[in-house]
Amino acid sequence: NKTLYIVPTPIGNLQDITYRALSILCQVNYIIAENIRRTKILLNSFSIRTPLYIMNRYNENIKVPALIEKLQQGYNMALVSDAGSPLINDPGYRLVQSCHKKKIKVVSLPGPCAAIAALCSSGLPTNRFCFEGFLPTKKSARVDRLKLLLEESRTLIFYDVKYRIVDSLKDMLNTFGGERYIVLVRELSKIWESVYGAPVSQLLDWVQQDKTRIQGEMVLIVSGYYAKKNDILSPKMMHTMRLLALEMS
Ligand code: SAM
Repeated sequence: NKTLYIVPTPIGNLQDITYRALSILCQVNYIIAENIRRTKILLNSFSIRTPLYIMNRYNENIKVPALIEKLQQGYNMALVSDAGSPLINDPGYRLVQSCHKKKIKVVSLPGPCAAIAALCSSGLPTNRFCFEGFLPTKKSARVDRLKLLLEESRTLIFYDVKYRIVDSLKDMLNTFGGERYIVLVRELSKIWESVYGAPVSQLLDWVQQDKTRIQGEMVLIVSGYYAKKNDILSPKMMHTMRLLALEMS
């Protein structure tokens, strides 16, 4: 039996690849990638010629048995995603689960991850946080998810995309209330990297004033819920009141 390496790759700046990541990517027999074109660009910039094996979110279930067989035959493999940490809103956990079942060694390298980089630049508490990935695309499901998080006191991390961010912020405003502090972190490690935090009502105005403010890749860091001394109503009650107010307006 050989080893499956989990190898994070840069999220915008090639210099963020680690020495260890480069050395593993050169040494393994195969690199398991989501997308040939994206990974070839990365490998070419470091003159790495290791053969690729494709596994993405659509075919992970089907590909796992063949990959396990290769590992059992004695091949070392490295899993990468298009950018950042594999398995974090990217394929891989089924493969790792199968490796554990088959007693195949898994080694996870530390490295770039958009969620952690965004959290660290947000200025919000980092001692307890909750990674929520992408919110559901359907409005009703999105609101239901947010309602479940209404009284979550840990800092919340969401991945988002430019064509849905305004809807996400509107739903957050209606669910959490306009005062909830949210930080929009964009284009980490790229030329237009920016961090802007404000109560969600102001943040929504700010992003709607200028479409370039929602260009590129983005993460939302949302302050956790904390009860204020003079809060008479529970967050759930407040949410119901906001819905009533919306209905009546
Ligand atoms: N596995 C990756 C990671 O953990 O870094 C994330 C993959 S997920 C499919 C892609 C999302 O990550 C984007 O929609 C965005 O929310 C976030 N993201 C990736 N790169 C980013 C960057 N440079 N700046 C801000 N957000 C980024």
